[in-house]
Amino acid sequence: MSFKDKIPPSLKKAIDLLSVIPSYGERSAGRFIYSLLKLKKEERIKIAEAIMEAVKNLRNCKECFIVTDKEVCDICADSERNKRFICVVEESQDAYTIEKLGRYTGVYHVLLGRIAPLEGISPQDLTIDKLLERIEKYGVKEVILATNPNVEGEATANYIGGLILKRFPAVKVTRTSYGLQFGSLIELSDEISLEKSMENRRELK
Ligand SMILES: [Zn+2]
Repeated sequence: MSFKDKIPPSLKKAIDLLSVIPSYGERSAGRFIYSLLKLKKEERIKIAEAIMEAVKNLRNCKECFIVTDKEVCDICADSERNKRFICVVEESQDAYTIEKLGRYTGVYHVLLGRIAPLEGISPQDLTIDKLLERIEKYGVKEVILATNPNVEGEATANYIGGLILKRFPAVKVTRTSYGLQFGSLIELSDEISLEKSMENRRELK
């Protein structure tokens, strides 16, 4: 009998399944489960139930792809939001981080990733087609490229910016400036830096 066979099957199953999550490996999966098991039983059941509810009810908005519990998210459905301004972000958490500032009155577009050739992620894997469709449909005036301030985020912004300017020369395309440190992530940035980066955006031409 090997050492591994002694792991309880339910524990092994949980770790194996969690390991499938992108950027999670067996080690992170194990760390998560073992940490969870340190909590009182009722606490860990509450967490598991919350995850269950989230995975059952959450999906991507059919317009902007942000994670929501409705077919169309509250931001897209809000008639006070200006659909002629689209802020493009990599992931939902970036949009919700910007949203917390409470200053931006346009809508978002979540790419669901960034161009990363080394990981085999190409432009076709992102929601770029739908972005172009929305620009046309709503007569968009400005597209703010708020991908992360790192090599891949920059490359993604340049790619999409080029595409938009070629297809829709009248649209203003801007890139958030970074008081944010290069190599950092929007979701981890502080409010003042993020607000500055939204305000001092530069125009791509
Ligand atoms: Zn939406």
